Amino acid sequence: MPLRFLSPFLFILLLASAGLPENAPVPQEKPPATETEQGGKVATPQEKPDVKSEATPEVKPEKKPQAKNDEKAPAGEEIPADIKPETVQPQMKPAPEPVLTIKPEDEKEYATCLADLKAIGAVFKEEPRIDDGKGCGIDKPLTLSTVLPGITLKPEGKMRCETALELARWTKEAVLPAAKVALESEGELTTINQASSYICRLRNNAKTGKISEHARGNAIDIASFTFKNGKSIEIQPRDEDSTLAGAFQRAVTATGCLYFETVLDPGSDEAHENHLHFDVIERKGGYRYCR
Ligand SMILES: [Zn+2]
Repeated sequence: MPLRFLSPFLFILLLASAGLPENAPVPQEKPPATETEQGGKVATPQEKPDVKSEATPEVKPEKKPQAKNDEKAPAGEEIPADIKPETVQPQMKPAPEPVLTIKPEDEKEYATCLADLKAIGAVFKEEPRIDDGKGCGIDKPLTLSTVLPGITLKPEGKMRCETALELARWTKEAVLPAAKVALESEGELTTINQASSYICRLRNNAKTGKISEHARGNAIDIASFTFKNGKSIEIQPRDEDSTLAGAFQRAVTATGCLYFETVLDPGSDEAHENHLHFDVIERKGGYRYCR
């Protein structure tokens, strides 16, 4: 009997003398240390499961769920992952719908735009909301008839205020200076001839694809400029045009990108061989597409 009690003690002594003091004392000191430092709450589950898991099965279901919850808690941010299959799918499905809705104008931005449009000298009329279905429409449309004092938009066109304002700014700050330099002999610019403003259609009049910015009131197509002497400068392929008219068209095309997010000219594709397409589409990061 005494040998049985002594044998484990001798074994520990042997381990300690063998240079393994850390391994041997730890299992003996752990229980008292954990129990006292952590109030026995943490220590007890470590010890209890060994003892009570077999004796009292009721303790198991209570503690295991807690332990699982505690483990999932940090991953609680991932908990939605469990919910995602139910919630995300319905969120993804209605996503295409907003594309077909008419974007409401911001009241303050619209009021500021109207004031700026009046201040620059444009003549326009506020129109009732347009909703032609399929995402076509304008929340607060304007009919623009005069771009700047003395410069008519022919024919008058429906568009958003922002489109009208950028058209007026571009005309005042880019077109008129270029015309004065290149085409002064033609007299003052009197008319901007547009080929398309608001119209419910897809891009490039295609039967399938994305809705045109024209269908949102964001776009205006410029076909030609008419001067006081009656002469018109038509938009046409002019990359190789060595005349002042060519220089004028290239200048107003390039400067268009300062005012509009999209500029398509006769050099872009066959669909734009006879006009400049300008639009104020919103792109993430202020990206502009001009070619
Ligand atoms: Zn266009």
